[in-house]
Amino acid sequence: MHNKSLPELSTALHSGEISSVELTQHYLDRINTHNKTLNAFISVTDDRALEQAKVADKMLANKTAGTLTGIPLAHKDIFCTKGVRTSCGSKMLDKFVAPYDATVVEKIDAAGMVTLGKTNMDEFAMGSSNETSFYGAVKNPWDTDRVPGGSSGGSAAAMAARLAPIATGTDTGGSIRQPSSLCNLTGMKPTYGRISRYGMIAFASSLDQAGPMANSAEDAAWLMNVMSGFDKRDSTSVERDVPDYTATLNDSLEGLTIGLPKEYFGEGLDPKVAATVEAAIKSYESMGAKLKEITLPNTGLAIPTYYVVAPAECSSNLSRMDGVRFGHRAEDPKDLLDLYTRSRGEGFGEEVKRRIMIGTYALSAGYYDAYYLKAQQCRRLISNDFQQAFKEVDVIMGPTAPTPAFRFGEKTDDPVAMYLEDIYTINTNLAGIPGMSIPAGFVDGLPVGLQIIGNYFDEARLLNVAHRYQQQTDWHKQTPDAFK
Ligand code: GLN
Repeated sequence: MHNKSLPELSTALHSGEISSVELTQHYLDRINTHNKTLNAFISVTDDRALEQAKVADKMLANKTAGTLTGIPLAHKDIFCTKGVRTSCGSKMLDKFVAPYDATVVEKIDAAGMVTLGKTNMDEFAMGSSNETSFYGAVKNPWDTDRVPGGSSGGSAAAMAARLAPIATGTDTGGSIRQPSSLCNLTGMKPTYGRISRYGMIAFASSLDQAGPMANSAEDAAWLMNVMSGFDKRDSTSVERDVPDYTATLNDSLEGLTIGLPKEYFGEGLDPKVAATVEAAIKSYESMGAKLKEITLPNTGLAIPTYYVVAPAECSSNLSRMDGVRFGHRAEDPKDLLDLYTRSRGEGFGEEVKRRIMIGTYALSAGYYDAYYLKAQQCRRLISNDFQQAFKEVDVIMGPTAPTPAFRFGEKTDDPVAMYLEDIYTINTNLAGIPGMSIPAGFVDGLPVGLQIIGNYFDEARLLNVAHRYQQQTDWHKQTPDAFK
């Protein structure tokens, strides 16, 4: 049952082959068996899930159910869920029970889906390995000595071990795509503004985007249909029609031009990853696509630019966690300053503190022009590179991450090495354009992702390009032996 696609699950539910309660219980049992090993969930909402499943079964019985009604799902613990702890992977919010639902949660609930629980993540979504979570590291089901990637590592591990049929994630610099690559999933970061950020705890507001983490492009398309759309409560959400993402999945790729940025295949890329990704790209030629080498000359600016913009925005966003309005409150404060400093000192982990300090510095009087303003200018150059490229090509392809999953502790002492994990993904967040990672093969038994990047609001094309590949390959169907 846990290897079925969303369309297959939908058919099974609608035909009465299985009830939503049975399906939900099946996943809850799997979570119960495997979460001890993987630490993929921070909270499992059993009772609530079974209640939702009962309602779904009623709708299925009286024929008022939609296509996704009764299908279980896991939410990254960054989305506010009413009445449920929403921790964002931090001690700061360990006791925070959200008083309202994020728009994404609301839409998914309205579609009749069943929430199994909230998945583990790097603290406030800062990280590439899920080692910065207050709730401990998440293990990669493909090799439990290795990281699942981050920051949506809990959703990725849960999906790879088939503890949920689909999950949500967020991506500020790569956090949907990089863990998807390391765990053999199909993950999409949509165009900035495509999905509402309302109720999604802010890390870097000008970069954050939610998206699906799925077993296939088709499943991702199903969830994109539900998640996308304008929301008046998010001033950056875009008022633009949402196409049916499933309608164009099978479109022909005849005549498609694929751009291969030379900067994505150079130094720093593991040669075996390069070979795997190149083989995947080559197979597009037999589907009628043309390959064209391109250049994104400002790629080298992406990491330094991001590590000014993201910390600057997070230092501002996280100022609300002061022990008064939100978050952990220190005991017996001497005075107000002591309350602030100890609450924040105790509540935040090391990586979050590092980012707040960098961001506060970059925004401070006298440095704003030198850092934040300069970073915004670099951001424009990066964005222009893509616009230049899309004059000649339809989509861009390359690796998602420079390496397969690495071992715990391998990069924790060297923040810059960790930051380089996102070298191929961060540019798209800075430009605001969509990107996907899809399974493309294995290196020494570890999954490797192919990244597909598109122009603004070209999600349907990305899903189509991914789906056609998945019609010809079965990489996306592979699951780790220990979690069959
Ligand atoms: N790894 C990047 C960071 O640490 C991106 C994280 C993300 O996309 N949330 O900031």
